[in-house]
Amino acid sequence: MSWALAIHGGAGIIRHARSSLQKRILSESLDAGAAVLQAQGTAVDAAAAAVAALEDSGVFNAGRGAVCNAEGVHELDASVMDGATLAAGAVAGVRRVRNPVLAAVRVMRETHHVLLIGTGAEGFCRKNRIDFVSEGYFVRKLKTRHGTVGAVALDAQGNLAAATSTGGTGAKLPGRVGDSPIIGAGTYADNATCAVSATGVGEAFLRSAFAHDVSARMRYLGETLPRAAAAALRRVAAIGGDGGAVAIDARGRIAMPFNSPGMARAALSPHGRRRIEL
Ligand code: ASP
Repeated sequence: MSWALAIHGGAGIIRHARSSLQKRILSESLDAGAAVLQAQGTAVDAAAAAVAALEDSGVFNAGRGAVCNAEGVHELDASVMDGATLAAGAVAGVRRVRNPVLAAVRVMRETHHVLLIGTGAEGFCRKNRIDFVSEGYFVRKLKTRHGTVGAVALDAQGNLAAATSTGGTGAKLPGRVGDSPIIGAGTYADNATCAVSATGVGEAFLRSAFAHDVSARMRYLGETLPRAAAAALRRVAAIGGDGGAVAIDARGRIAMPFNSPGMARAALSPHGRRRIEL
């Protein structure tokens, strides 16, 4: 196997009562991404498929399970990046898009922009026949603050990609945007270094340019992926942020560091080893 995949379902306190459900959904998400990679699909499509499965589950804070802002409205954010070309796409503050990660892929592939927000993003999605949902689609009871989802992938051609999707932080101010749709903060991918998808207190990940920091440490300091990811997370912690990330390098080495009480995470290594942990 020359490909690999790692996913997360958010950093935070993992409730025991939901742990077997979370593990099952993580496993299904891994399967969705692995199916793409096995069929010689791209890392971008694999990461997006894995994230879309998590969005559809209603179990994590993304897609169907997204939390509401302070006014009871869903505002969803997502991003994707292709490590082969440094192409990237993202949407922020979309309210009715079923799979924000697929909208992000479309922004990357169909426009020369990186980030579309709010009504403009939704207009683009409508024109591109992205699925919309009604308010009743969302799972209302999800109160956990964490639970952003993300994926990183290495495909059989040696390309890396990362994708992240979130409902943001619960009871956030309307219009607030965290790290998840911001390239370099919540998501980054560069074949020369690594692919990274983060989760946690978005403001701290934004302020430390976390995902790019992991890549930059590998590029400029020659650090290994685990070292670079741990060091970048220490900078987040130093400004009071907790959270974590999944990351992968061009050899398929995977790092899944976190400084929060838990992080739902899973990986398929190039050796076929499958891990699912909370
Ligand atoms: N990073 C996300 C945000 O700030 C939240 C999370 O990962 O739980 O929007």
